[in-house]
Amino acid sequence: MSTPTQQQTFPADWQRALVVVAHPDDPEYGMAAAVNRWTREGKEVDYLLASSGEAGIEGMDPSKAGPVREEEQRRSARVVGVSRVDFLGFPDSAIENSAELRRHIIDALTERRPQVVLTLYRGPEWAPGQPNQSDHTELGNAVVQAIGESGISVQAFENGPYPTHRVEVTEDDVEAAVRSLAEHQEYLGVLDPSTPVLEQARAQVGLMVQTADDGSRSVGLAKIDT
Ligand SMILES: [Zn+2]
Repeated sequence: MSTPTQQQTFPADWQRALVVVAHPDDPEYGMAAAVNRWTREGKEVDYLLASSGEAGIEGMDPSKAGPVREEEQRRSARVVGVSRVDFLGFPDSAIENSAELRRHIIDALTERRPQVVLTLYRGPEWAPGQPNQSDHTELGNAVVQAIGESGISVQAFENGPYPTHRVEVTEDDVEAAVRSLAEHQEYLGVLDPSTPVLEQARAQVGLMVQTADDGSRSVGLAKIDT
């Protein structure tokens, strides 16, 4: 684990980013404070989600949960200045690095021409005994492979436990990330019914945003060799 001051400053010389993740709430668990900073500075950030997260609300039928989670994701994106959110409809909990998934990702890269792509950590474990989710590793590997197959030159990053770069953020960016995560109301409400959603979101974002010795806050991201 690096400290924020050991990490390089995240590049600033770009205009369009594409965030490609597996499920609703994936952008909020890790990147949303950085996204808020970028959109506030006039950059464009789009979200592309492989699934609608329909298996993610315990006790709710997937046919109902999918639309609920899509709507929560759209609201959550708006809070941090993201207006375009697309869902590819791959099955939650059974995402595979397939040619079909990569074809959709290549289509998105070709259409939108991002200079920066952000995706999910591909490593096996977040920490000893804390395995990564299969959907996340499959999706992350599909993104990296799709970038290679597309021939499009982008800088790619993942939100893993070993960041190489830091995006400095303000307290307002952190607060926007909290409100963004809190838009996943049904999801968080079922996950932990006894803790208010905003309180859950504040605790989660507090764990994810880095704090340097001088108190400055940042989001850590790891550069991917593509
Ligand atoms: Zn996820």
